[in-house]
Amino acid sequence: MAAVELDHVSFTYSTADAPTIRDLSFSVEEGELCALVGANGSGKTTVCNIVRGFIPRFHTGELTGSVRIDGQDIAETNLGLLGLQIGFVFQNPFVQISGSKDTVYEEVAFGLENLGVDVATIRSRVEETLDLINIQHLRDKNPVDLSGGQKQRVAFASTLAMDPPIFVIDEPTSQLDPQGTNEIFEIISLLKERRKSIILVEHKMELIAEYADSVVVLHDGALAMHGASAEVFSSPELPQYGVAYPEFARAALALRDAGVPLDHIPVTKS
Ligand code: ADP
Repeated sequence: MAAVELDHVSFTYSTADAPTIRDLSFSVEEGELCALVGANGSGKTTVCNIVRGFIPRFHTGELTGSVRIDGQDIAETNLGLLGLQIGFVFQNPFVQISGSKDTVYEEVAFGLENLGVDVATIRSRVEETLDLINIQHLRDKNPVDLSGGQKQRVAFASTLAMDPPIFVIDEPTSQLDPQGTNEIFEIISLLKERRKSIILVEHKMELIAEYADSVVVLHDGALAMHGASAEVFSSPELPQYGVAYPEFARAALALRDAGVPLDHIPVTKS
């Protein structure tokens, strides 16, 4: 059974006169990292909000089709339960961090406290998460004093502490420098090792080529392409959907166009 399954999903915001998502179907298996790519405005964030049940609950409009998490239709699941199944990391950690906690430790513990988890379990879960994300040295710092990259790691830690099986991650590195970006992708590797199912929106195609198992290309809210990343990134169709090739694929395609015989288009260094 798929971890996440979208089945003929269409959505029109109540303020819009045309659908933003159009008859979209794809699924993500357990342990799969599926990257969502597409031009600005193609509907990536809207899909993230549909999958985590915030559409149509908080953004009104007309939703048709169904989304299933482990086979269960999310329209029939309450949001609290869905929050245990799906961890969400926003593009802007400044929004995600509660602002009401004085230390990173308390911030990471916050979600578990809300669930009424006992103190000893919270303590061990938070310690384990601080170790895993490598932020033990930040534990007593005030979250508001952290850099963007540190805040994003704390946001990941807060989500990971809840140990959801599914992660929806929307542009986690858009505000980060290369080092911060690498640190976030180390965390994403860790999520993969733990067999989490992941939907990831990310603009850096090199990173998608390296980490994603599958790629969904959205074009005007509809599915334009869906396949293994090597397959999608060596397709001649990609530019027409406003998606750039990763650097390696670009270099290989240029060599091929110059007459160098290549039996496949490498999209990563490896
Ligand atoms: P992407 O993440 O690919 O940039 P979005 O999902 O943010 O795309 O947006 C897709 C389309 O939906 C855009 O045309 C955008 O203007 C519109 N849209 C996004 N959020 C809302 C909203 N809350 N109300 C109305 N229209 C919206």
